[in-house]
Amino acid sequence: MRVLVVGGGGREHALCWALHTDDPRTTLFAAPGNPGTATLGTNLPIAATDVDAITRAAREHRVDLVVVGPEAPLAAGLVDRLQADGRPAFGPTQAAAQLEASKAFTKAVLAQARVPTAPSHTFTALTPALNDIARHAEPLVVKASGLAAGKGAVVCSTRAEAAETARAMLERGALGDAGREIVVEAFLEGEELSLLALTDGEQLVFLPAAQDHKRLGEGDTGPNTGGMGAYAPVSLATPALLARARREVFEPTLAEMRRRATPYRGVLYAGLMVAPDGTPFVLEFNCRFGDPETQVVLPILSTGITEHFLGIATNTWKPGDAVLPVSGAAVTTVLAARGYPDAPEKGAAITLPDELGSDVLVFHAGTTRDAEGTLRVAGGRVLNVTARAPTVREAAAASRAACERIAFEGKVYRRDIGWRELRR
Ligand code: AMP
Repeated sequence: MRVLVVGGGGREHALCWALHTDDPRTTLFAAPGNPGTATLGTNLPIAATDVDAITRAAREHRVDLVVVGPEAPLAAGLVDRLQADGRPAFGPTQAAAQLEASKAFTKAVLAQARVPTAPSHTFTALTPALNDIARHAEPLVVKASGLAAGKGAVVCSTRAEAAETARAMLERGALGDAGREIVVEAFLEGEELSLLALTDGEQLVFLPAAQDHKRLGEGDTGPNTGGMGAYAPVSLATPALLARARREVFEPTLAEMRRRATPYRGVLYAGLMVAPDGTPFVLEFNCRFGDPETQVVLPILSTGITEHFLGIATNTWKPGDAVLPVSGAAVTTVLAARGYPDAPEKGAAITLPDELGSDVLVFHAGTTRDAEGTLRVAGGRVLNVTARAPTVREAAAASRAACERIAFEGKVYRRDIGWRELRR
């Protein structure tokens, strides 16, 4: 089989790794890929968002399946284009990808489907937004409706801060087009959980639940980032919680998408806030695999994922299990560059020991190989160091130990990934 993975971060390296592990005979392409995917297949120098060029490359290389990593090409309609070309593709269409690309759309779908979510109102004009905020309970949350690379949601402790955030987005265009429409919503108490499901629009299978760590600093302090680490499975995701999430979140959402004649196929990622009474509230949906959650979710699956991708892409899916079987636990620690997330320093040479142990997987995220073949820092999140072990505690220790052995000038990482699970 010939598979093209679209994207070039740690998530895509992990996807290539999983496809390769399922069947080493699979011919892999990545667009644009990174030095990690280059060890498993052929990198094509095409931007993930270049829908035309990716469609052409899929045809030229006669690929049997395209797996799309990031949200931007999905929101730009890559899957629609590939389907029109007769090319099996794993991921939602542009219309279905609105579940991530527009929070206003998502709120409307959730309301229609009666899915638990924070009460909210959507605005494009400043005055009604400020009026709503003036009457709102504190704390409250202001969100840009569009894709804002993780910067779109602002938890505000006061109405004054919320009003300022609304002004920045609606009046000053602080987040560009993404913030021309905003959602003002109530603050929810609870614990967050990343729950991902594979779906063909009707049937669904859960992947092991994960928890990521958005803040830069240990103890969940400092600025928000794309994610500094993740672990799976999460004991908070009991069979009872998964049953509720299936019945109260996923099934009604998928039914509403079918009712709108835009069925959702691919991986649906729910960012849930599990309330103290166990109700799974939807904070957001993502229309793709999480990064870095993928780097822990795929390594602990005890069955292959390729057949699911192919089945969903070709509308022949027979899911079997309700939850994909898992063995053991995994923790991934992100090695970031000094200055991340604001201004990461690039260029440092990376020393990566050949042998870090058979249970350690190093996924490349922001790396490049220079003309001499030296591996160098090329982005804020540089490497994702995943360790597998029987328990989260052991996996966390093994991930930390491996991180210590990888060297580059300015290396920054958290030593407490998985702390919530260890406390439980
Ligand atoms: P989102 O992009 O909507 O997932 O929001 C980013 C982060 O902001 C979430 O992971 C939560 O930590 C926080 N957040 C968003 N909405 C709420 C809410 N209604 N109540 C509490 N925290 C929230």
